[in-house]
Amino acid sequence: MAIKFRGVDFLEFDSLLTDDERLVRDTTRKFIEDNLIPIIEECNRAGRFPRELVKPMAELGFYGASLNGYGCAGMSNVEYGLVMQELERGDSGVRSFVSVHSALVMYPIYTFGSDEQKQFWLPLMQKGEKLGCFGLTEPDSGSNPGSMRTRAKKSGKEYVLNGEKMWITSGSIADVAVIWAKVEDEDNKIRGFLVETDRPGFRAADIHGKWSLRASVTSSLSLQDVRIPESNLLPKTGGLKSPLMCLSQARYGIGWGAIGAAMACYDCALQYSLFRKQFRDQPIASHQLVQQKLAWMISEITKAQLLALQVGRLKDKDKAAPQHISMAKRNNVWMALECARMARDILGANGIADEYPIFRHMANLESVKTYEGTHDVHTLIIGQSVTGIDAF
Ligand SMILES: Cc1cc2nc3c(=O)[nH]c(=O)nc-3n(C[C@H](O)[C@H](O)[C@H](O)COP(=O)(O)OP(=O)(O)OC[C@H]3O[C@@H](n4cnc5c(N)ncnc54)[C@H](O)[C@@H]3O)c2cc1C
Repeated sequence: MAIKFRGVDFLEFDSLLTDDERLVRDTTRKFIEDNLIPIIEECNRAGRFPRELVKPMAELGFYGASLNGYGCAGMSNVEYGLVMQELERGDSGVRSFVSVHSALVMYPIYTFGSDEQKQFWLPLMQKGEKLGCFGLTEPDSGSNPGSMRTRAKKSGKEYVLNGEKMWITSGSIADVAVIWAKVEDEDNKIRGFLVETDRPGFRAADIHGKWSLRASVTSSLSLQDVRIPESNLLPKTGGLKSPLMCLSQARYGIGWGAIGAAMACYDCALQYSLFRKQFRDQPIASHQLVQQKLAWMISEITKAQLLALQVGRLKDKDKAAPQHISMAKRNNVWMALECARMARDILGANGIADEYPIFRHMANLESVKTYEGTHDVHTLIIGQSVTGIDAF
């Protein structure tokens, strides 16, 4: 039985959106329905990133969507969030690709880059002709990126980079990596570098055997005496705050994206519960315990929509603080994972099959819960904000 997504709007959420915001959302939804939904289960099974969608997504302005100039769409933060929601309704892995390319590579070039770096990279990246990855995490440095070991050392008019990065989205398909390293000549200050991935000494190896984000490429990176010209330093980076600013952009998008995954699971479970009959030839939706799950899901999705929208409205006024973004990421990913688990339950045995999207979303969301600051790291950011006490 094919289930087609119908959208989720319990509380007239759409009435809070402008015409432009609805248009962006609907255009993205149609693109995903026509282009990603038909192939995503095959991609997920094969562990294949749907590279054929890179250019079509560029044409719709998805890359660097909230940046201005350089061919970028100049969307508001709410519009950008709605794009993320619709992408992740399709698949968290495809949304991850767009998030990394936009928020973790184009954004730092835009924010910390020189004019030459911006003029060279941003138009090519907006068109999807060059792809990027973001190398912060290392084998021994995850939640605490300040403990990174990757080093950059000045040598004449070049920097020489050495280190290992781990769990890097799009690592082996990227043309350029934003690599975060401690600069030995600057008292080990963390700075960002643009490293073209064809430089001698740079290697990317894919991580296989993932049960999650299978339609996204995840790699480890090795840098052994990689020499780059000094002009590849992102000049305005300085300290851990710089990568954290990038993460704030990406986490904001995840706060919206997770709603998309939750909507997909909820709508699928709702439709299924209305046609699946058990006991007295009644649909399972007529049982109180099934309704309780559906009521929980729609309540939490609705609250998550309002949370994401308020953070987006604040961000559009430049008033969204990291703890606001942490609340959206933490709550909405947790909510989506709970929805996916309940939806899986409502589908019974069918819930484990990839004829339905639920198990894929559920498995994907386990990564989304961990990356870009784990659920518990965001708990600590919110805790620090309300108590003034750092509990890391
Ligand atoms: C599919 C995927 C894609 C990714 N893509 C990228 C990417 O593109 N670029 C990149 O740089 N990274 C990427 N990451 C890495 C990701 O950001 C890290 O996995 C994440 O930051 C957590 O680090 P860790 O896995 O080392 O876990 P750890 O930091 O080892 O944490 C393990 C557990 O300990 C808990 N913990 C840690 N410190 C504390 C504390 N102080 N108090 C309480 N609990 C604590 C955590 O909450 C977690 O539950 C990706 C990860 C995945 C899974």
